[in-house]
Amino acid sequence: MDDSSIQTTHSRIATRFASFGETIFAEISRLALQHDAINLGQGFPNFDGPAFVKHATVDAVLSGHNQYARMFGMPVLTERIAAQFSRRSGLNIEPDQHVTVTSGCTEALAATFLGLVNPGDEVILFEPYYDSYRACVAMAGATPKFITLRPPKFAVSEAQLRTAFTDRTRAILINTPHNPTGKVFSRAELELIASLCKQHNVLAVTDEVYEHLVFEGEHVFLASLDGMAERTVTLSSLGKTFSLTGWKIGWAVAQPELTRAVRMAHQYLTFATATPLQFGAAAALDAPQSYFETFRRQYTERRDVLIEGLSAVGFTVYPPMGTYFVLADHSTFGFSDDVAFCKHLIEKVGVAAIPPSAFYEHRAEGAKLVRFAFCKDVDMLRAAVDRLQSLKP
Ligand code: PMP
Ligand code: GLN
Repeated sequence: MDDSSIQTTHSRIATRFASFGETIFAEISRLALQHDAINLGQGFPNFDGPAFVKHATVDAVLSGHNQYARMFGMPVLTERIAAQFSRRSGLNIEPDQHVTVTSGCTEALAATFLGLVNPGDEVILFEPYYDSYRACVAMAGATPKFITLRPPKFAVSEAQLRTAFTDRTRAILINTPHNPTGKVFSRAELELIASLCKQHNVLAVTDEVYEHLVFEGEHVFLASLDGMAERTVTLSSLGKTFSLTGWKIGWAVAQPELTRAVRMAHQYLTFATATPLQFGAAAALDAPQSYFETFRRQYTERRDVLIEGLSAVGFTVYPPMGTYFVLADHSTFGFSDDVAFCKHLIEKVGVAAIPPSAFYEHRAEGAKLVRFAFCKDVDMLRAAVDRLQSLKP
């Protein structure tokens, strides 16, 4: 959005990154600070994670759990990830065989692609996409094939899917609930994807970091569908569900052969993840059911405050079924595209949001849209909506 992005002009960047610039999240957060804007851009809560989780990490630090963790995760955490995933998906997950703890879902994505995808393979991505997918595919030397999800429903058609699968397809990446559209893939859509994966012998990688933030519909584990456990790598992390995005604890769950491939990359990327934080994460996964219910209820309220506010200001809002993001159409305000609109928002209105064209290969697809995050307390969301009133003619 401005000229200070470091990467684009740096001639020593490897060719695999030649088409990448500074991530939109870093750029918008920097501009938000510079203009003292309320930051509804980058998705991080303005409230803290639960005390019992933080205490578990502090206790681990003070009781000497400060050396390298086991390569694929501390037993206390892998056991809980396996237990939680088994209970929720109905699969029989063994901690030592199936689980790898990583530095956030971001590292899990990189390890999965580097461990399982060969140069020249094709990987199917849905756009708009979380930006690291495109970079992971590039790091693996693979070729991305895009399926575009379009408003208002962001539905995926059978024709789009059938065209995307070829005899060079190695993997498909499904993010449900989906950032930035808020789409929750339906069971029917996932069943169709599953049948195509089986027909073409394709691996599925699922990013389920918003698995506990579903407002409408149900969260279906692709791995739990018939014949998919052996070809799916399920990724998730702690950050969103426990409002601890800075901890960067994530994981990959997959059958042993796929897990060996993910660990192959993980052991050389980071080897292991911060030991005391894994104790904290284990305590988090022991949270009672009421924690997850309260979490969802609070987010439902935040979502409603924001979407009602945006509609009242004149946006066409696409209410999210899940995640803590909402996409809205800004066309009524007369700006040429999302970048011009977000620049105006930050500099003149005092609210930062993400221009979604950054999440599309075909950037024009995102030009009428803007993404707001609602992982903020209700006071902050109301203050942002107040500022947005100045957009009204
Ligand atoms: N996947 C999606 C869809 C996300 O929105 C994010 C954002 N943080 C991540 C992965 C990264 O997760 P982590 O912070 O655990 O690396
Ligand atoms: N997932 C967060 C978002 O979509 C941001 C993560 C990041 O800053 N890389 O806003």
